[in-house]
Amino acid sequence: GHIEPRENRYDAMHYHRTGNSGLKLPQVSLGLWHNFGDAAALDRMEELIYTAFDNGITHIDAANNYGPSNGSAERNLGHILGLGLGHYRDELVISTKAGYRMWNGPYGDGGSRKYMLASLDQSLERLGLDYVDIFYHHRMDPETPLEETMGALDTAVKSGKALYAGLSNYDGATMARAAGILDELHCPFIINQNRYSIFDRTIEHNGLKETASMLGKGIITFSPLAQGLLTDRYLHGIPADSRIARDGRFLKSSAITDDTVHRISELNAIASDRGQSLAEMALAWILKDGLVTSVLIGASKPSQILDDIGALKNTSFSDEELQRIDRISAA
Ligand code: NDP
Repeated sequence: GHIEPRENRYDAMHYHRTGNSGLKLPQVSLGLWHNFGDAAALDRMEELIYTAFDNGITHIDAANNYGPSNGSAERNLGHILGLGLGHYRDELVISTKAGYRMWNGPYGDGGSRKYMLASLDQSLERLGLDYVDIFYHHRMDPETPLEETMGALDTAVKSGKALYAGLSNYDGATMARAAGILDELHCPFIINQNRYSIFDRTIEHNGLKETASMLGKGIITFSPLAQGLLTDRYLHGIPADSRIARDGRFLKSSAITDDTVHRISELNAIASDRGQSLAEMALAWILKDGLVTSVLIGASKPSQILDDIGALKNTSFSDEELQRIDRISAA
């Protein structure tokens, strides 16, 4: 049904410019990878999205293939926009992506111009929108010339179907080459979406974090809670309502080893010394140096979104805390 967002929804959230661009993003953003597919209840999805929006989360992240089934998360978001959220379109930054397998045959995957532009049209149809704010290439495609994929992103922007371009899962060197091409095209490439957490430091090693800050590009980090591992979720077994139990496609019960639970408990102890939940500390840890524009969370319950936003209350760490965290994550 029609829900009115809270009047004071902008009071507590912090907004940061995405790299050198004019677009500000909330430091916490909401992603629809899980909990927005065919099996999700409309009431719960609305509750999640309005809890986010009511607390200043203006950015919602989708992709062509989020579900299951493919396309269903976009269709569900489109439905919620149609029920009333769409009145606030100009207060929202909605992103989508193409790059993973979406439909059968040679044109439903990768980075070709053929796939990228058809996929964006399909996404807009499902979302019921004329444009998305950010259109991403979802992953590097070594088979397609970078010029072709970047040209497709540029066409998406120049045709008015996307306001900004983004790259996801690129490494530093490939992103720098892509940025050069997009600069020549005068295409507003402003943001990188990559995995980053206390448990996954890849972007510190593949040049992405450093290159993005050098080039003035934003970074939004996905799975900042390692899909729920960096919370109190799995401290005492695998709860029936958890991601592992309900939808173990990407996070499997095999991830819950004695060693991992031990490391989570140690991190949890540091968090409680800081007066934070582990989820809050894990998100604060990503935001600590100011190089990451936004942490992109998922949630199965509205209360998780509120807990996660609480991270913004304390994002500074002592050297000793950082060293303890590094020791635990490297162990
Ligand atoms: P997270 O690491 O934030 O994991 C989210 C899960 O953590 C939730 O579903 C919930 O699990 C648990 N959780 C969240 N907050 C709390 C809390 N306060 N206390 C306890 N548990 C909590 O991120 P995701 O892996 O969901 O990824 C976030 C978004 O990033 C995606 O929706 C998508 O938009 C994007 N993404 C992009 C990718 C890309 O290739 N570009 C790849 C993957 C994600 P539970 O369900 O068990 O309650």
